[in-house]
Amino acid sequence: MVMGDMEMNTDLLVIGGGPGGYGAAFRAADLGLDVIMVDPIPRPGGVCLHKGCIPSKTFLHITELILDAKHAKRMGITFAEPQLDLMAMRAWKEQVIDSMADGLVTLAKRRGILLVQGTARFVSSTTVRIEGADISSVHFKHGIIATGSRPLELPGVSFSPHGRIMDSATALNLADIPQSLLVVGGGYVGLELGSVYAALGSQVTLVEREDRLLAQVDTDLVQPLQKRLSKLFSDIQFGVQVDSMKEDNEGVDVLFKKDGEIEQHRFNRVLVAIGRIPNSEGLGLEQTQVELDSRGFILINDQQQTSDKHLFAVGDVAGGVMLAHKATREGRVAAEVIGGRNSSFDARTIPAVVYTDPQISWCGLTEQQARTENIPYATQKFPWKYSGRAQTMGITDGFTKLLTDPQTGRILGVGITGRNAEGLISEAALAIEMGALAEDLALTIHPHPTLSETEAEAAEIFQGSPTHMMPSMK
Ligand code: FAD
Repeated sequence: MVMGDMEMNTDLLVIGGGPGGYGAAFRAADLGLDVIMVDPIPRPGGVCLHKGCIPSKTFLHITELILDAKHAKRMGITFAEPQLDLMAMRAWKEQVIDSMADGLVTLAKRRGILLVQGTARFVSSTTVRIEGADISSVHFKHGIIATGSRPLELPGVSFSPHGRIMDSATALNLADIPQSLLVVGGGYVGLELGSVYAALGSQVTLVEREDRLLAQVDTDLVQPLQKRLSKLFSDIQFGVQVDSMKEDNEGVDVLFKKDGEIEQHRFNRVLVAIGRIPNSEGLGLEQTQVELDSRGFILINDQQQTSDKHLFAVGDVAGGVMLAHKATREGRVAAEVIGGRNSSFDARTIPAVVYTDPQISWCGLTEQQARTENIPYATQKFPWKYSGRAQTMGITDGFTKLLTDPQTGRILGVGITGRNAEGLISEAALAIEMGALAEDLALTIHPHPTLSETEAEAAEIFQGSPTHMMPSMK
C-alpha cells in the first residue's frame, strides 16, 4: 500500500463491510493481496451484525426464554411473570454486537487490512472518491462491490429513525413496547420481529398482501407456525393492501384496502417489512462498465465478475437469495478469483432458516418449486410425535420432510419445522452438496435421542421401514 497526498493505491478495494465484504477482504488478505475495506459504519459487520441477523436473533433468544418459561408449566415448573427491563435488554444486544464487531476489527487488523470509515463513489473503474474520511480517493486494481440492500418503503411512507412507522432497524432499537403494533408483510423479517414484540407484550396485528405467509416456503412447513402465530398475534389478515399511513405523537392511523373496501385502524407503532432493495444507486456506477438488472441488482457471472473487468459484486447487491451466508461465500469466491484461484459460486443449495417458534428451515428443492417446474419427486415426512427427543422437549408438532429423485433416490430437498430446525438443516445441506441418496442418510448412525434422528427416519420411510413409526402411517 502506498500512502499519497490523501490518496491511496491498493490491489483490492472492498466497498461495504458486511458479511459479503469482510468475507471477501479476509479471504483476499489470506491469499496475500493488499486490501482496503471502506464502509460508513465504523466497524465491520454490515446490516447483518449491526441491524439484522444478530440483533434480531439476540431478541428472538429472549423471546424463546419467555415462551419456554410459559410452556414449562405443563412440565411441572411455574415461573413468575417475567419482569422486562428494556434498558438491560438493549444493553445486552449492544454487548453482543460490540463483542462481535470488535472481533472483526481484530481479525481485519491482524490480516493487515486497512479499514476506512467513509462512503465510496466511483469516478472510474479503478478509482473511488471517499466521502467522510481522511483519505480522499483510492486507486485499485480490482474492486468488490458489497454495498448490500436497504428496506423497501411503502409508496408515500418514509422511515425516520425515531418515528412510529419503523423499518426493521428501528424496530430492533426497541424504543418501547407498544401496546399495539401493526406488522406489514408476512416474510421472515415481519414474522421474527412480530414474534419478539408479541412475546414482550404488544398486541400484534399482521397484514399480508398475498394469501399466505412466507411465500417461498412449502405451505405444509408454514402451517404449524401459522397455527402458533394465530395464538401469539392478535390478528393475521391476508389480501390486505396498506393504502396510506399517517403518524402523530401517539400513534399511526392506517388505511387498509381489503376486498375493495377501505378500513381505518390505529396502532401505536407500525413495522413495515415488505422486502429489500439493492444499494446500487448513488455509487457512481455510471462511471464504470457495470450493468444492472431492471430492479437495480448488479449483473454478475458465476465468478462474481460484473460487466466491468476490474469490478466484482457480492451479497445482497448482486441479487439472488438475500442471506448473510450466501454473501460470505460469494465474497470468498470473488477474492479467490481475483487472487488467481480457480473458483466459482457453484453451491447446490443455500439453506435458509426462519427463527420463529416453531422454526422453519429448508434447503434444496421445495415441493412448491418441484410442482411449478414439473420436476419429478417423491416426498416423505417423519412427524416428530414419533421422535423420543421431541417428546422429552414437549415439541411434538414438528416434522422433517425429504424430497428425493424417484428414479435414483438422490436427496433433492429437505424441509424441517420445529425447535432447533436451524441446527438440523446443515446435515441436509451437506447431503445435497455430496449428492447423497436417502439410503445414505438412513444408513448414517444418528445419536439417540436427538432431533437429528428425524432426518434419518424420514430417509428410512423411503426404504419402507422407519424404526419409530409403522411404514404405512401418515
Ligand atoms: P450488508 O450486510 O447490507 O452490508 C453492506 C455494507 O455496505 C453496509 O455496512 C453499508 O454501510 C455499506 N455501504 C453501502 N454503500 C456504501 C458505499 N457507497 N460505500 C461504502 N460502504 C457502503 N440473513 C441471514 O443469513 N440470516 C439471518 O438470520 C438474517 N436475519 C436478518 C434480519 C433482519 C432484520 C434483516 C434486515 C436482515 C437479515 N438477514 C439475515 C439478511 C442479511 O442481513 C443480509 O443478507 C446480509 O447482511 C447481506 O450482506 P452484504 O454483505 O451483502 O450487505
